[in-house]
Amino acid sequence: MTDPLRELYQEVILDHNRRPRNRREMPEATHTGSGDNPLCGDSVTLYLLVEDGAIVDASFVGVGCAISTASASILTEAIRGKTPEEARALFERFHHGVVGDGEPPDLGEASALLGVREFPMRVKCATLAWHALEAALAHNPKEKP
Ligand code: ZN
Repeated sequence: MTDPLRELYQEVILDHNRRPRNRREMPEATHTGSGDNPLCGDSVTLYLLVEDGAIVDASFVGVGCAISTASASILTEAIRGKTPEEARALFERFHHGVVGDGEPPDLGEASALLGVREFPMRVKCATLAWHALEAALAHNPKEKP
């Protein structure tokens, strides 16, 4: 990774941390999942609204470091409009990208988070929201009234 690319990645993370997208509770959510990272003090709850087989809305609440907040923010943007299967596939690619040592996959803005692979202590920060996504999708959806 070249230095200008690294700076760009950092800018993406800083921007999402300063102005997190979709940081709100979602009472109408059909799926929720939570995760904690005691090592860093990060905590995130993810909300999904799945309708007609697609994730039509995604949001999160939580506290944590810049990386965990940016990761949750980027995640909610990345999975909107995808099917749960596509979101799961994105999780797999992201997780492989973070913990793997091969060529990083192209994950759009989420690629910014792959920089943590050089900092093993921060991997949990970057993957926290994604594990919450996996947990949310694994739950039985609430019946819509
Ligand atoms: Zn953290």
